[in-house]
Amino acid sequence: MINHLITQKNWQTQLSEAITSVDELLSILELEDLKSTTYFPKHFVLRVPRAFVAKMTVGDGNDPLLRQVLPDEQEQIKVTGYVADPLAENSHNPVKGMLHKYESRVLLTLTSACAIHCRYCFRQHFDYSANMPTATAQADIIDYITANPEINEVILSGGDPLNVTNRRLFAWLEILEAIPQLTIIRLHTRLPIVIPERLDDELIMRLAKSRCQIVMVVHCNHANEIDETTARALNKTRLAGITLLNQTVLLSGINDSTAVQVALSQRLFSAGVLPYYLHVLDKVAGAAHFDSDEHSACTLYWSLLAALPGYLVPKLVRELPNRPFKVPVDIYKSS
Ligand SMILES: *Cc1c(COP(=O)(O)O)cnc(C)c1O
Ligand code: SF4
Repeated sequence: MINHLITQKNWQTQLSEAITSVDELLSILELEDLKSTTYFPKHFVLRVPRAFVAKMTVGDGNDPLLRQVLPDEQEQIKVTGYVADPLAENSHNPVKGMLHKYESRVLLTLTSACAIHCRYCFRQHFDYSANMPTATAQADIIDYITANPEINEVILSGGDPLNVTNRRLFAWLEILEAIPQLTIIRLHTRLPIVIPERLDDELIMRLAKSRCQIVMVVHCNHANEIDETTARALNKTRLAGITLLNQTVLLSGINDSTAVQVALSQRLFSAGVLPYYLHVLDKVAGAAHFDSDEHSACTLYWSLLAALPGYLVPKLVRELPNRPFKVPVDIYKSS
């Protein structure tokens, strides 16, 4: 733990002070040696908030949090089967800024910005500029939802939907709450994990008084990502009546062991969060070195079933283009 990095600054200051220099990051962690295997990408550059760096171990080049954010020269290796748009999302785009792939819920990409750049991200090559909801798209989104009565849930996503200001977010909530058929509003966000101060009182109070049920799905891959500040912010959110779930991406060498997954589920639960999905990596270009083979994923999953109570075992899923749900991985093939 690097205590001098722990900060009480508000979330927007922390966002703007995120580390984007590889040299600075490696110097803070006393890992200058790693410079030779580090990659300096022109797009999707290094970005990591200081509060997240503070959860890393100084001098450990294999730190599971560091490995999620430090660009590695392996990203440049072209591997067959790893492509720019692995989920073919560009073909489920009825309105700009909206994805409708699953029957009862639509996903809105509120912003392209993220507080942190996760090197395995399946959206790292996504053309957001062509997919942001514009002012006119707002009316189209409302019309589309109204014309499709099977939709009862809207997922705010991105990028990271909590990257926008409370004012903008609340404006979206108001628009959505005014559509009678919607009963659930969901946020898919990594910000509470990387900058827990984002869960400020104004936000929590607004979510708590929504006429819709609010679900917040955070994204955490390792127990070390939840320190005391993060746990307190999450517990506060749960106590306000917001359902908290977590999704994890299975990452080779980072969280693909039984011990790490068990610790993650237990730590999440202590912070008021239930495990939801454990995603097999989407085959996005540049991320092949994070992939673990399906047989190992299944073996790991059997061990989690044995080690954890059922409510702490996430669903092991794979996302496939053109499937209208996240597909359960067939663990019986490897039983
Ligand atoms: C993951 C996802 C959802 C939500 O799926 P759930 O199974 O309801 O969590 C909805 N729309 C899209 C496009 C998604 O990728
Ligand atoms: S926070 Fe989510 S969307 Fe943003 S880079 Fe990480 S995985 Fe991708």
